[in-house]
Formats: sequence, C-alpha cells, structure tokens
Amino acid sequence: QGAISFKDVHFAYDPARPILKGISFEVPAGKTVAVVGPSGAGKSTLSRLLYRFYDIQSGTITVDGQDIRTVTQKSLRSGIGMVPQDTVLFNDTVAYNIRYGRTSASDGEVFAAAEVAQIAHFIEALPEGFDTKVGERGLKLSGGEKQRVAIARTILKAPPILILDEATSALDTTTEREIQTALDVVSKNRTTLVIAHRLSTVIGADEIIVLKSGEIAERGTHAALLERN
Ligand code: ADP
Ligand code: ADP
Repeated sequence: QGAISFKDVHFAYDPARPILKGISFEVPAGKTVAVVGPSGAGKSTLSRLLYRFYDIQSGTITVDGQDIRTVTQKSLRSGIGMVPQDTVLFNDTVAYNIRYGRTSASDGEVFAAAEVAQIAHFIEALPEGFDTKVGERGLKLSGGEKQRVAIARTILKAPPILILDEATSALDTTTEREIQTALDVVSKNRTTLVIAHRLSTVIGADEIIVLKSGEIAERGTHAALLERN
C-alpha cells in the first residue's frame, strides 16, 4: 500500500528559476527509495510536493495510482507520516506531542492515553531515560529526543507512507545511529521516501537516486553506485 510515482515532474517556486526539471521515479509499495545529492539540488522540494505543500507545474504525482491533485489534502496527508530534520513540538508535554501530530491536530485526531503510553514505552526501550521526560515541557528535549517524539507520532498514526527528510542530519553521530535504528524499525514494510545528504546513511535503501540541480544524475543500489564512483 502507498505506492508512489513521480512522472516527469517539473516545479519552480519562482517561474524564472526551475528547481525540478523532469523528475521520474517510483517507490513500490513497502519499499524504500532514498534521494541524495548536494544542498540545493531540490531533495526537500520533492518531499514537500508529495505532501502537497505546493502544486507541481507539470507532470504527475500519484499514490496508489491516484493523482494526488484529485484527493483531498486531508486524506492524502493522513496516509503520510513525516519526520522532518527539525521537529517542531507544541510547548506542552511529550505525551501531548505524541498524541497530536502537527498535521493531525487540525484534523482533530486524538489518540487514547493508553495508546500514547504504549508508544512512549516502546520508544523508551530504545533510548535511556526517556520516560522521565514524559510530562516535562516538550521544548526541554534534546534533538534526538524530539526525533523520538516524531517517530512515536508516526507509529501511532501508522501511515502506509513515510517521508524521512534529513531526519537524522541535525544529530551527533551517536544519536544519529540510535535514531537510525528506530527509523529502520518504523520504515520496515512501509513505503518510504528518504531524503539524505550522505550515501553512507542510506545503505539499506532499495534504490538510491542522486539528484543534482533538479535532475536525476544517477540511480541504483548502494553497491552499484559505489562501484561506479
Ligand atoms: P535540498 O533539499 O536538495 O537542499 P531544496 O529542495 O530545499 O534542496 O531547495 C532547492 C532549491 O529551491 C534551493 O535553491 C532553494 O533555495 C530553493 N527553495 C527552497 N524552498 C524555497 C521556497 N519556499 N521559495 C523559494 N525557493 C525555495
Ligand atoms: P522551508 O524550508 O521553505 O521553510 P518547510 O519544509 O520547513 O519549508 O515548510 C514548508 C511549509 O510546510 C511551512 O509552512 C511549514 O510550516 C509547513 N510544514 C513543515 N513541516 C511540516 C509538518 N511536518 N507538518 C505540517 N506542516 C509542516
């Protein structure tokens, strides 16, 4: 479920400056595709288009064969879990932040306290001392802990599609490894689009797309790309 297809997608924030110049790729249901490339290549723009923050100028983006322009934004977004680079939390408890996603809050999506406690317990099993932070103000959390909250939110929503947009790139190496482990669990069997800046963090992806100046410069498995470079 959640197969994604980009077909000849063109996009520009400013008509005078094309950002994506005919991008085509697919993420088969349950698979993981990673997009890597230099800063400014248009990687994050791809994820924003899939989430419909912006509409494309030409081409087609489909989810399960359906053009995303023909479904309501609400139903599109309810099927997508997004873990951004810097998770912005409500100035409230961790439990509250897990219960209300930044997007789901507007939909009035509320989860039972028991569910939230279960999820908090699950992520607590990964890092140390996370339980003591539940109940504290969200903004006191470290970057790694914020990402755990974002992951917990995603688990609770159980969306078929996951977007990981540089989800670990603001973290130190040790924390990055811990969060990566949690993300590997969450992305298993989910259709996942990973945006990353380093090839070494996306070794397990089914396909890696190298984006340069809004065009696909190379694509293949991690092993194939290493062999060619
Ligand atoms: P990447 O994720 O590969 O670093 P982005 O998709 O964030 O690249 O950005 C691609 C290009 O689009 C950059 O040149 C960036 O400055 C520009 N850009 C990104 N967001 C906006 C925006 N909201 N308005 C105008 N230009 C933008
Ligand atoms: P930029 O880098 O140009 O600031 P962002 O990707 O941060 O773009 O955000 C683009 C728009 O989407 C902003 O209005 C921002 O508030 C919103 N946004 C970003 N991340 C999320 C999210 N996880 N859920 C809901 N809205 C988001």
